[in-house]
Amino acid sequence: MQIKLNLLKNPQEINILGLGKDELLSIITDFESQPKKASMRVSQLWSWIYCHGISSFDKMTNIDKNLRSQLQKVLTISRPIIEKKEISNDGTTKYLFCLKDRSKIETVFIPEEKRSTLCISSQVGCTLSCSFCHTGTQKLVRNLSAQEIVGQVIAVYDDLDLWKKIKSSEGASSFFEVITNIVFMGMGEPLLNYEEVKKACNILMDNKGLDFSRRRITLSTAGIVPKIKMAHEEIGCMIAVSLHATEDKTRDVLVPINKKWNLDKLLSSLRNDVNLRNSERVTFEYVMLDGVNDTKEDAHRLVRLLQGLPSKINLIPFNTWTGSQYRRSSSDRIKAFRDIIIKSRLPSPVRKPRGEDIMAACGQLKSSSLKDKASI
Ligand code: SAH
Repeated sequence: MQIKLNLLKNPQEINILGLGKDELLSIITDFESQPKKASMRVSQLWSWIYCHGISSFDKMTNIDKNLRSQLQKVLTISRPIIEKKEISNDGTTKYLFCLKDRSKIETVFIPEEKRSTLCISSQVGCTLSCSFCHTGTQKLVRNLSAQEIVGQVIAVYDDLDLWKKIKSSEGASSFFEVITNIVFMGMGEPLLNYEEVKKACNILMDNKGLDFSRRRITLSTAGIVPKIKMAHEEIGCMIAVSLHATEDKTRDVLVPINKKWNLDKLLSSLRNDVNLRNSERVTFEYVMLDGVNDTKEDAHRLVRLLQGLPSKINLIPFNTWTGSQYRRSSSDRIKAFRDIIIKSRLPSPVRKPRGEDIMAACGQLKSSSLKDKASI
């Protein structure tokens, strides 16, 4: 973002939430010309914003009053607005956010026994048109800015009152009170919005702020092959790949980007180009679709495909949505599939469907809000 210098002579409202430190510095230099002082102010602001969740300059007590009121005149620290919030019986909480241009995105908080995960969006809608995914049916598509990506996390911290327990789970009486993991598994394809996602991750991982370790952030991709290696090297976070099929003819239909980077290209690149660190694994997501990709042969093929690649397979029971041509595999079928994988010594948890009563699958809350509007 090109920040207009000399804000005081040319006042304009700039949101500083989710800006990089360099951008923040260039803004603050307009108020504090001395470089040492300016960089001290950036550190102070950073700490107020990302360690304490402060959204008003008034409360930044270590910054002198004059400066605070100047900052207040031209800068904001604004979050995306919660348009709708639904809490499932199992505690899963789904947010529908309204952005400045009125686009809608979703974020889901998933508390579990030993951790709690925030699932965030990287785009409004998605261009990949995976045939089982509801987000693909939505027309409007644009990339989110790093501000909007970080904004989702901050807004959930506010809403769930998590700022007190930010540094670790110590002191939190349950995992309802802390976010331990962030996954880019909401709307959109993060690797098609690479620069903004990278910038957002760097802010989330900054050790003077929210301080998420790279191991606690996962980028999930449908398989944008060249960007996987880049993300692994440059961002350093964990990688999940939406595999969903063991043969090109099936994957071409389920995940059409397979026509550009097929199974062979995807898996060879993961094997040969991505330098996994010690004990690191690639997670493979595999949605269980009745009669489509859930046979024993599929399970055996999957094991063969992943041979020698440090991996973990996440079996996801399909989350049904109205109008979808697919059905969820039966639990017997999922179990038989899982048993074959386990026998091969690959770790393979079945992801427990969460928040089904609030339609927590990708893209579904947004669509229900559109329907609500259509029926008014
Ligand atoms: N574009 C990225 C991230 C978005 S979706 C990707 O494709 O990985 C996150 C995960 O949810 C993906 O594995 C996606 O395939 C899966 N998913 C989408 N719709 C689903 C549904 N209705 N039921 C179960 N999983 C779904």
